[in-house]
Amino acid sequence: MEQRNEPILSVRDLSVSYGSIKALQGVSLELRRGEIVALIGPNGAGKTTVMETVLGVNTPDTGSVVFEGRDCTGLPVDKNVRNGMTLAPEGRGVFASMSVLDNLLLGAHHETKGADKKLGFVFDAFPVLGERKNQNAGTLSGGERQMLSIARALMSTPRIIMVDEPSMGLAPMVVNTIFKILVNLNKEGYAIFLAEQNVYKALKCAHRAYVLEAGRVVAQGRAEDLLNDPAIREAYLGA
Ligand code: ATP
Repeated sequence: MEQRNEPILSVRDLSVSYGSIKALQGVSLELRRGEIVALIGPNGAGKTTVMETVLGVNTPDTGSVVFEGRDCTGLPVDKNVRNGMTLAPEGRGVFASMSVLDNLLLGAHHETKGADKKLGFVFDAFPVLGERKNQNAGTLSGGERQMLSIARALMSTPRIIMVDEPSMGLAPMVVNTIFKILVNLNKEGYAIFLAEQNVYKALKCAHRAYVLEAGRVVAQGRAEDLLNDPAIREAYLGA
């Protein structure tokens, strides 16, 4: 039985630059098994950069990323995906001119064995994708595209799913559906690292959260405590 308190991901003192732009400066954070952890903050705070650096898209200037006890700093993306981490980009990150089915199969490209079983699993979790499997992803609604992004990430059999801005551009009802899906996936055992600008929704569904501003962690704690924190309420919840 997996221990809930055991860290699955530890990020230590991570700094990342794009040329002269310092996108992250000394970011440290941790996810434990069984947790949903939110990374909240305004536009340009560096949320996507944290996730992409964990996945291996960016090389950090300093700092380390440890996944399931193994240092994976600087490992290439495909290696990290094979090792059990994945990223569901915001829904526009699906391949619009490819069918839903081909987008999903791409998510399992590193291990095609067992792909049929995984397809069965994601079509059970997202029946609408099964109904639309032969349709081009570009013809899906925003919410369906977001589901496809998450479903594609699941095809690689991850143990941690990083989800970048799943509520972006979606109607409130659709946002609720997406967040329910994330909570259900977490109940099934996936650790979820969630970047969001919809601070209220993110804090309602997460166990803990980190607040990122201008590339630095400026607050952290239990999601419930942050929801009641006057400074967070004033800055992010208009209260
Ligand atoms: P958003 O919610 O708007 O996506 P974010 O919190 O995810 O914002 P990032 O996308 O990580 O933030 O961006 C952090 C900073 O790094 C921003 O100032 C952004 O302009 C800059 N940045 C991101 N990617 C690049 C890049 N490829 N080249 C140059 N600067 C970049």
